[in-house]
Amino acid sequence: MSAPPAAAAVAPALLAWFARHGRKDLPWQRDPTPYRVWVSEIMLQQTQVATVIPYYGRFMARFPDVARLAAAPVDEVLHLWSGLGYYARARNLHRAAQAIVADWGGEFPRDFEAAHALPGIGRSTAGAILALSRGERHAILDGNVKRVLARCFGVEGWPGLPAVQARLWELAEACTPQQEAAAYTQAIMDLGATLCTRSRPACALCPLASGCVARAEGRQAALPAPRPRPRERRRERAHVLVVLREDASVLLEQRPATGLWGGLWGLPQFETESDARVWSRERLGVSEPRLEPWPPFTHSFTHFDLELVPLALRLEAPAAMEGAGYVWYNSRAPARVGLAAPVAKLIQAIAVPALDETSPEEPRWPGP
Ligand code: SF4
Repeated sequence: MSAPPAAAAVAPALLAWFARHGRKDLPWQRDPTPYRVWVSEIMLQQTQVATVIPYYGRFMARFPDVARLAAAPVDEVLHLWSGLGYYARARNLHRAAQAIVADWGGEFPRDFEAAHALPGIGRSTAGAILALSRGERHAILDGNVKRVLARCFGVEGWPGLPAVQARLWELAEACTPQQEAAAYTQAIMDLGATLCTRSRPACALCPLASGCVARAEGRQAALPAPRPRPRERRRERAHVLVVLREDASVLLEQRPATGLWGGLWGLPQFETESDARVWSRERLGVSEPRLEPWPPFTHSFTHFDLELVPLALRLEAPAAMEGAGYVWYNSRAPARVGLAAPVAKLIQAIAVPALDETSPEEPRWPGP
């Protein structure tokens, strides 16, 4: 396993690289007031520089300062944002502009905490605005910076996890220099956007290559770790027999005391249609059971989904089946037996069609 670089070595290498190769002519880098940097930082969230540039130009032409943005109808702000996506960003920008006018006399707050408290401004964005516009020393940790730090220092785990995030913030703080905060902030963002890209990073050109753990171990593609995939839910399938009598009552059986719906009453349940057929012959005395499939429905338990396939069997002659463990249940005069909530809804839905009605094409099954 390779040793990570010293945090103090990162800034000098990045600053030297930035002086030669960094981007210095972006529209928001000219006259970098907090307002101009703030708008650019919000537009650049989830969006690439090349896409942002024309939008930024139009936005600044219409709203050259906080006051004019705050005074505009939100619809106009959204109109100028149209095509950039993630419209909550525009709404928050507008709300924050109004807060700045109302609470800060129209001047972007000088205080980090006050900036961070504005709508749509997270810890990293607040740090970037204050560093880039005022040269203050604040660490930043946007998506690009997370990638650079995770690779360079070999940080394992998905950055969305609080412990991984905390470790990355620690590194971001440790790497940020006391001097030249604005250039360093732009440099690390540029490195992530231009060299240390998500796929195929250009390590041969990278100023951090000599100490980079991911490069030394050939693990650029594995770091940072992707979001863990949720475990696939187990899915089971069963057939339930809907035995309907002429008076629209339905046959219920008591479930075993343990297991799903333990001790409650439900429809006779089988693994296969053929099992249901055999049971109908043997227990109900129907020589040629005509099982009518109804649309299946799914019930979700904590750890798995159960798909139930109802098979309706309409009895033309009264069947016995009374006695221990069985009951004919009629929703118009319901027996006082315990039904699991989803089973109760199911019984209500299926108890309505009687023998003289047409089969329910789409019975309203209970949802999961
Ligand atoms: S060496 Fe490669 S992986 Fe490491 S920081 Fe530079 S570009 Fe990223």
